[in-house]
Amino acid sequence: MTEIIQTVADLRSKVRAWRAAGQKIGVVPTMGALHEGHLSLARRARAECDRVITTIFVNPKQFNNPDDLKKYPRTLEADAVLLSGVPVDVVFAPGVEEVYPDGFITTVSVGGVSEPLEGRMRPGHFDGVATVVTKLFGMTEADRGYFGQKDWQQLQVVLRLVRDLNLPVEVVGCETIREADGLAMSSRNVRLTPEGRAVAGVLYAAVTVAAEEIRAGQSDRMAIREAAEKLRAAGFERVEYIELRDAETLMPSDDPRRPRRMLAAAWLDGVRLIDNIPV
Ligand code: AMP
Repeated sequence: MTEIIQTVADLRSKVRAWRAAGQKIGVVPTMGALHEGHLSLARRARAECDRVITTIFVNPKQFNNPDDLKKYPRTLEADAVLLSGVPVDVVFAPGVEEVYPDGFITTVSVGGVSEPLEGRMRPGHFDGVATVVTKLFGMTEADRGYFGQKDWQQLQVVLRLVRDLNLPVEVVGCETIREADGLAMSSRNVRLTPEGRAVAGVLYAAVTVAAEEIRAGQSDRMAIREAAEKLRAAGFERVEYIELRDAETLMPSDDPRRPRRMLAAAWLDGVRLIDNIPV
């Protein structure tokens, strides 16, 4: 099984030796309950770096909903077994007190790109993400950080953060891994009922059709309204947003020359699902 390190001091001594030997270090930050999406990031890091660290930390600061934090799946032993199949060099799984000791008072807050969509629906979420990612980069001294496109806005926030703070890390965005019916893999999917799971693929199907219609010249509004109708008809309780945005700034965009992205969030079975695709 892959070695699990829990303190920054132990991680630091390992990382220092690697760096002294001139090795490139890749980090894959996760909250655990690993699935193929996470493993694809770890495999990419394995292929591109000398050393790979996967971090597993359910970051309380990025949960705006206490119930979601409480129910978040925690499967450290099974995760370490999966990671030994990649293999990664180290699992860094610090406790909450290790990351946020008494007296911790700093927040990293990225403006602009953090504000709409997820930022609006989940106040404080991206401050939590930006703070923990900055810390994880500092703790691991990684040369490269691997992030999934599944969380597109988060990826843009991290890219902005690294540029704005001159962090010496190259951010690599990796393809979304999906189930056979198109549902983006997520640690929260296990909370769906069998009935919910059976219709969850409609989220990806609906935004895919909407994106095709927009490419074919249909109005954004019409295409998005139809997609939202499909979700409700399939049994989604609530559609939080379906939006066509500038892929980088996440601001509203009607400039078809700029890369655009359709992003969606909707509730099914009391589980919040998100997805996004290029348009
Ligand atoms: P999480 O554990 O949900 O915080 O995710 C950790 C990392 O894995 C993030 O960079 C996510 O974007 C990425 N990730 C999660 N699900 C997927 C997926 N289905 N495909 C690709 N990357 C993913």
